[in-house]
Amino acid sequence: MIESPLLEKLNGYIGGRWTDNAQGNTFDVYNPATGDVIAKVASMSESEVEDAVAAGKSALRLTSPYSIETRRKWLEDIRDALKANKEEVGRILCMEHGKPLHEAQGEVDYAAGFFDYCSKHIQALDAHTIPEKPKDCTWTVHYRPVGVTGLITPWNFPIGMIAKKLSAALAAGCPSVIKPASETPLTMIALFSLMDQHTDMPDGMVNLVMGKASVIGKVLCESPDVPMLSFTGSTEVGRKLIVDTAEQVKKLALELGGNAPFIVFDDADLDAAADNLIANKFRGGGQTCVCANRIFVHEKVADAFGEKLAERVNKMTVGDGINGDVDLGPLINKAGFDKVKRHLEDALEQGASLVAGKQPGDLGDGLFFPPTVITDVTRDMCCYREETFGPLVPMALFRTEEEVIEAGNDTEFGLASYVFTGDADRAQRVAAGLRFGHCGWNTGTGPTPEAPFGGMKASGTGREGGLEGLFEFVEAQTVPRGF
Ligand code: NAP
Repeated sequence: MIESPLLEKLNGYIGGRWTDNAQGNTFDVYNPATGDVIAKVASMSESEVEDAVAAGKSALRLTSPYSIETRRKWLEDIRDALKANKEEVGRILCMEHGKPLHEAQGEVDYAAGFFDYCSKHIQALDAHTIPEKPKDCTWTVHYRPVGVTGLITPWNFPIGMIAKKLSAALAAGCPSVIKPASETPLTMIALFSLMDQHTDMPDGMVNLVMGKASVIGKVLCESPDVPMLSFTGSTEVGRKLIVDTAEQVKKLALELGGNAPFIVFDDADLDAAADNLIANKFRGGGQTCVCANRIFVHEKVADAFGEKLAERVNKMTVGDGINGDVDLGPLINKAGFDKVKRHLEDALEQGASLVAGKQPGDLGDGLFFPPTVITDVTRDMCCYREETFGPLVPMALFRTEEEVIEAGNDTEFGLASYVFTGDADRAQRVAAGLRFGHCGWNTGTGPTPEAPFGGMKASGTGREGGLEGLFEFVEAQTVPRGF
């Protein structure tokens, strides 16, 4: 079992108190590197989730809102607590997620960055009076907190994803009811321990509920006291939330799945493109929404690029991230492993060939999937059409700019995309043509606290990060004054 000063309680946190499930129900948390159960965490009932919503409601202040200074202090205190406890939070994250320790600790820094950004820009949420005087009135625009929000996060960035939502929700003055993924609740408990110890937020401002998604989701969707949900996860669950909240016309912020194209033209710096692809693709074991899922390489440079990838991939190390400097940890669970294996088998059966990695029959036991590169991928293959969420690099060849823009857009998703070319005009045309919320030009970098990030099409609605993300949890209210 995992031991940590930040995990003395393994319960929910409701109205400022650690709260057990009344029946003593728990669920197991596993270390994917070893298969061991490392914790048993409280599984909340429907009435406990309702208590969390009620606690949130009691912390909401509309007529005497929390001042900008008060909210800034909350954000700064969380930022400082995360930075001061980066090693320990990262260790917990590494043990329940499996990503290498240095990546896990880097994610804590990334998370602190969102609280930092919001604390520095919170003044933008202050009311302002518009310069014109339409209709003989003086018009003031106020940014009101939307209310109690449900924040639902996935397992792939256990601290990064909640930081994006919670920083903006607190900046707006919104209380929240937070549900982490069942694979990775421990990092969230650690965050709540830090908030409990290092901030003076009012009781009910942040509430933690863990357990069955169907139970928690039902309360959050049905409660009239929760006017907004911010969700990061699969498009499948996102669609369900749209349906389940339609009756009440709730505000939704949805960060959903991706199927990122990574395009390499024949005038690209191939070494830089290969280095960026490796860094992008294998972060988190290839289990990120922004990682390249379809690699389009101009036919003239396909062999050379494949060789550069193979050279790099063959040097990568795979193992338990807690033990040292490995490049890749295990996948999150058996279902995740089997999906990547199925994508590899399907591609090889349909005519793709292996450039680096192992045949599906040689993968062995455990959740450690070796970094793998395949080429001659076509649009009928599962790895082209679906989000693989694992360390499989599928290369498809192209000839023209028009053809590759069309191929890149040949997906319902529109989250991240990347283009590598030495031609600035072409880069601008391709970025404008790709219907993706993020398009890296000669970089494989993903989101950052300072810039808005989010999806087009079935990758979601809304933005996190940047000023756009800061405004996600407020409603603009106009107050025209007649005399
Ligand atoms: P998931 O299965 O959709 O789960 C995400 C969260 O939703 C978990 O906390 C899950 O709880 C919860 N959930 C499941 N069913 C629910 C319901 N009916 N009502 C309310 N909550 C429900 O996704 P995942 O497998 O954790 O994450 C991987 C996906 O997230 C990928 O598609 C990835 O692309 C996407 N993602 C997108 C972004 C982005 O910024 N757009 C970022 C990261 C990840 P349980 O764990 O208890 O089932």
